[in-house]
Amino acid sequence: MERVYEGACHCGQVRFRVRTDLSRVVDCNCSICTKKGILHLIVDPAQFELTQGRDALSTYTFGTRIAKHTFCATCGIHPFYMPRSHPDKIDVNVRCLEGVEIADLKVTCFDGRHWEDARSTLDE
Ligand SMILES: [Zn+2]
Repeated sequence: MERVYEGACHCGQVRFRVRTDLSRVVDCNCSICTKKGILHLIVDPAQFELTQGRDALSTYTFGTRIAKHTFCATCGIHPFYMPRSHPDKIDVNVRCLEGVEIADLKVTCFDGRHWEDARSTLDE
C-alpha cells in the first residue's frame, strides 16, 4: 500500500519524504552496497522530496561514475542516491525510513557483483 514515509540520515541534517509502497525492496551484493548495508527502493523523482539538507550532502563516485552515491558529510549515512541502473530515478535507502520494520519486508536479492548480467532482471 502506498503511503508517505519520512526519511533522514543519522544526525538529522538530511531529511526527505517519499510516497511509495514497500513491495520492491532490493538487497544488492555489490562491493559498495554490501559495505553500506543499503536496502534499495527505486522511486520516481516525482515521488521524492528532499525537505532539508541539500548542502549537507557530499557525493562519492567510482567505476563508471554513473551512480552518484550521495551521503551526509557529517554522519556518513547514505539516505538515498542516484543509481547506475536508473540514473534518472532516486534510490532510497529503506533503512533510513522512519517507522519501517525491516524484518516485515519481502526483500529481493540483486546480484550486483555480476552487474551487467543482473541488470536486465531489474526491468519491469
Ligand atoms: Zn547526517
